[in-house]
Amino acid sequence: MRIGVFGGTFDPLHNGHLMIALEVRHRLALDRMLLVVANDPWQKAHTTIAPAAVRLELVTDAVERVNERMGVRALEASDLEIRRGGTTYTADTLATLRREAPEDELFLLIGSDTAAGLDSWKRTDEIRAAATTVVVDRGGREGGRPPQGWDHVVVDVPVMEVSSSDLRERFATGAPVEALIPPTVIDGIRRHGLYHSA
Ligand code: ATP
Repeated sequence: MRIGVFGGTFDPLHNGHLMIALEVRHRLALDRMLLVVANDPWQKAHTTIAPAAVRLELVTDAVERVNERMGVRALEASDLEIRRGGTTYTADTLATLRREAPEDELFLLIGSDTAAGLDSWKRTDEIRAAATTVVVDRGGREGGRPPQGWDHVVVDVPVMEVSSSDLRERFATGAPVEALIPPTVIDGIRRHGLYHSA
């Protein structure tokens, strides 16, 4: 099987995440696309993030709706990193997936803003050996590519200039979010009182 591994903080999940997951799954003919919700992302240690269980709940609700609409299990919310607990390292996640199904081919999906910084990740040799890196361009930060030594493929996707940080700000200030984020995620954010939402 060809498995897409799309890790993120998803604080919160937005339409940009769903769009790239669906596009890459389609373009690379992947059998599964996992949205792996980070437990405790070390890159975001300086910020306060919503509880992992809540971020997972919102991702799960959103992908269920997408799958219902498509009539296939296009996307899957993965709690693998939350179950493992502690600081989240992609190398550990890929190692677990490899161990569970050694014959699977793994594709690690990242945005162009993240790609250039890949060398700062932990145990990069293991990551490079375990998966093919797939880069998509991100609005406002196009052209970021992995450093030398990272075999990667670039998938062209429609550029959507949406980010979780902008959305958190929008919830706090009452700016419109309805075209940027799935309705179930908006409901969940209000239900859990996240991001100082009204
Ligand atoms: P924040 O604004 O809080 O940093 P984010 O919107 O970047 O959050 P993450 O969950 O941190 O969301 O992102 C997970 C992955 O998704 C990263 O690889 C990131 O580059 C990619 N990504 C997020 N939003 C987009 C987008 N609009 N287009 C392309 N890639 C994106």
